[in-house]
Amino acid sequence: MAAAAYELLVLGGGSGGLAGARRAAELGARVALVEPHRLGGTCVNVGCVPKKVMWNAAVHAEFIHDHPDYGFETSGVRFNWRTIKEKRDAYVRRLNEIYENNLNKARIDIIHGYGKFTADPEPTIEVNGKKYTAPHILIATGGFPSVPPDSEVPGASLGITSDGFFELEELPRRSVIVGAGYIAVEIAGILSTLGSKSSLLIRRDKVLRTFDSLISTNCTQELENTGVEVWKHSRVQAVTKSPSGLLEVTVMSSAPGHKPTMEVIRDVDCLLWAVGREPNSKDLCLDRVGVEVDARGHVVVDKFQNTSRKGVYAVGDVCGRALLTPVAIAAGRKLAIRLFGGQRDAHLDYSNIPTVVFSHPPIGTVGLTEDEAIFAHGKDNVKIYTTSFTPLYHAVTQRKVKCVMKLVCAGKEEKVCGGGQGCPCPGGCEDLTAGNTTGCPHGGPLVVVARVPCPEPDLLLLPGRWWGCTCKAWAVMKCCRASPWPSKWEPPRPTLTTQLPFTLLQQRSW
Ligand SMILES: Cc1cc2nc3c(=O)[nH]c(=O)nc-3n(C[C@H](O)[C@H](O)[C@H](O)COP(=O)(O)OP(=O)(O)OC[C@H]3O[C@@H](n4cnc5c(N)ncnc54)[C@H](O)[C@@H]3O)c2cc1C
Repeated sequence: MAAAAYELLVLGGGSGGLAGARRAAELGARVALVEPHRLGGTCVNVGCVPKKVMWNAAVHAEFIHDHPDYGFETSGVRFNWRTIKEKRDAYVRRLNEIYENNLNKARIDIIHGYGKFTADPEPTIEVNGKKYTAPHILIATGGFPSVPPDSEVPGASLGITSDGFFELEELPRRSVIVGAGYIAVEIAGILSTLGSKSSLLIRRDKVLRTFDSLISTNCTQELENTGVEVWKHSRVQAVTKSPSGLLEVTVMSSAPGHKPTMEVIRDVDCLLWAVGREPNSKDLCLDRVGVEVDARGHVVVDKFQNTSRKGVYAVGDVCGRALLTPVAIAAGRKLAIRLFGGQRDAHLDYSNIPTVVFSHPPIGTVGLTEDEAIFAHGKDNVKIYTTSFTPLYHAVTQRKVKCVMKLVCAGKEEKVCGGGQGCPCPGGCEDLTAGNTTGCPHGGPLVVVARVPCPEPDLLLLPGRWWGCTCKAWAVMKCCRASPWPSKWEPPRPTLTTQLPFTLLQQRSW
């Protein structure tokens, strides 16, 4: 039987696939999209969206904790996990429908099932025994969370992953989260803040080790301050199920210079592995069409998202670079514009991608870390500005959260090349507004941050918008430092924001 023909075939209805398919259809291409599960992919179903809802729930818990300090009586407040889970799931289902409607409106055919390449001479996709072909085929199949094999960690499969986190029907009483990346940090923060006794097991001494040291150190401290037990230099040795159905997690800790110790964490009702993600590439039969993958199975692409086979492209997590929704979306759109919009040079610039971690407090970073800047520009050419303070919001609360900020500048002109902040939103920015009128409480230039919009976490989820917001703030900070401060502090002129030669800001294009 002849294969059904399209101009673009997309494998995967997640962030990258949907964005690429819709942009191509807008540009007039005949498109089909293959998806075995619910539309929206990781971000919508088991990632950013439900995670952010749970983070919001945790933020409520933090506020409730502070209510007595602000004069509110809140005795008897109870949290019901099922309530928020049901509302969250209903919202996700609505999003699934919205995505389907959007594809229908764009006249994109939805093919339900797993796609894989056939052995036909021209790249062809088979789904449920039926063949489909197109001159352009986009692989956007994302990834899945890794779990160590039982042969490596006996009993590891008794644990869950971030996917399982979103299926939990009740708040676990005792949680053990393994991993030091942003997903581990976010889930540990949510569980602990909502009332689950939580331990975070990390292999080294800090979480978020690829982030700037100021950010990772502060995040590790704040996790500990908020009650997460951080087990440093620790690994899970084995997991067993007790007769009660609860887990016993045997942990080996071996801090440098100390004898290794073995301890058992008992009565665990949630062991969660957040130890990385693997690409969904194994079952695609990529070898049949000569699409190259790296040692971990990520599809190898050039800057135009071309794979090693002409007419086959890949975007998003399956490529293993900058695993973030806006990155997958932007790469998918740029590819569609290149293929069907006549812009032959359209491609995504992967430098300076802002990143947010929904920890407590949340973190925002962009550009180079201090170490990376020193490596790139040399120590003498890098200027670092840091500040840390307790926001005014916490002046009257028993719970204290520190705000830290760092700006990384390079060269004689001190161009901003990176920066990061870990800052609780309520308080951080308002504080700075107060500073603007009352003088210079926290190191002067940061006062001006309040002149631009607060880096509200909802904006942070969308790096493009976040960039325009927060980095402008950092640029102001830098500009003030370059003026005759700190010998004599003067409130900065409001016009400064518009006069900045802020090159990074101009580079953004999505
Ligand atoms: C817990 C968690 C929290 C996150 N939070 C954030 C956040 O706050 N901000 C952020 O930017 N990013 C976040 N991410 C990352 C973000 O979800 C991913 O980077 C993004 O979803 C990647 O998009 P994608 O299109 O590459 O893949 P996906 O969205 O994973 O989509 C891939 C799709 O391909 C389908 N598929 C798989 N195999 C096949 C096949 N053989 N044929 C057809 N279809 C197939 C899958 O079913 C899936 O729907 C988070 C991820 C996780 C796990």
